[in-house]
Amino acid sequence: MNKKILVTGGAGFIGSALIRYIISKTSHTVCNLDKLTYAGNLESLLEVKNSKRYSFKEVDICDAKKVKKIFFKYKPEIIINLAAETHVDRSIDEPKEFMNTNIFGTYVLLEEAKNYWLSLDKRGKKKFVFHHVSTDEVYGDLIKKNDYFTEKTSYAPSSPYSATKASSDHLVRAWHRTFKLPIILTNCSNNYGPFQFPEKLIPLTITNALSGKNLLVYGKGDQVRDWLYVDDHAKALLHVALNGTIGETYNIGGQSEMKNIEVVKTICSILDELKPNKFKKVKKYEQLISYIEDRPGHDKRYAIDISKINKELSWKPEETFQTGIKKTINWYLNNKKWFVKVKDGSYKGQRLGKIKS
Ligand code: NAD
Repeated sequence: MNKKILVTGGAGFIGSALIRYIISKTSHTVCNLDKLTYAGNLESLLEVKNSKRYSFKEVDICDAKKVKKIFFKYKPEIIINLAAETHVDRSIDEPKEFMNTNIFGTYVLLEEAKNYWLSLDKRGKKKFVFHHVSTDEVYGDLIKKNDYFTEKTSYAPSSPYSATKASSDHLVRAWHRTFKLPIILTNCSNNYGPFQFPEKLIPLTITNALSGKNLLVYGKGDQVRDWLYVDDHAKALLHVALNGTIGETYNIGGQSEMKNIEVVKTICSILDELKPNKFKKVKKYEQLISYIEDRPGHDKRYAIDISKINKELSWKPEETFQTGIKKTINWYLNNKKWFVKVKDGSYKGQRLGKIKS
């Protein structure tokens, strides 16, 4: 059955991967609702731009009037909410926008989704799903080596970013419990892959190495993350939205635990192989590594137990870190134009003819 899917934050890293996947591999229809902040980039969607099954609305999820208009005009059966402020460092410097978008924006979406859902007939109501995309960072960090985050782990967020995501998760569950809005939640680990804004560890390391810049590592780089290839995540998101059980939460992880320093060194050694022509005095990319003071409140370890999504929905990641990181590095090597424009600020979404709502 073809579905009408409203994706919020679809011009971002994960949202654009999800939309590219839905448009190229399925026959569902997508409306992308995005404010186009610094992290939103319509050039990540060029390959689907001309599809009749794809449309774009430049809208802020905090704008209830415009959100309502889209619900009643587009009539989505599935909402996948990825719109958010997402960078932990930015949330420490300027938390306000995180409060607005991640908490208030989620509230607006829930209220407008609820009002729209209540207007539907019995059949329409039954088909409707509000899928909220969240992070494993809501669980805080893991101390013991063999501990994993499960769907039952208590929330203990450490940063302003993860605290706002935790708040949004609570709102989503409250709208289900109180108003019976049909919701599903997913909490995933660190994503990496093509089209990621080069402020996050992996694209920052690749693009800085290619420019001969220092590769900055917080503390000793011993923070452990569970790396999830973005296309694996995109497949999981659609699968959960279509087949997950209403009211449930599913954790999504890459089963690829790595210390940050191992991630950086792996990128360096793959680049040594793929791009041996370096800068003066740089024999190995590892020489560019530079350790800096650790970030305040930096969580030590995240690791996800994927048993529930694996058992109930038969999902598991297809990529290992070794295969995913090679694909990612090759993508950045072949798409220098994309990241140079993003990095030097010369990219403006407006140039690509945004459709006004
Ligand atoms: P991103 O920063 O790359 O993209 C966010 C998108 O949301 C951008 O296109 C931006 O323009 C849009 N946006 C921001 N504020 C908005 C607003 N007020 N109204 C409408 N659109 C707005 O983020 P991402 O990495 O793609 O993450 C997507 C979701 O997945 C987020 O909810 C994030 O918390 C979650 N998540 C991401 C990761 C990761 O590793 N990237 C890990 C776990 C969870």
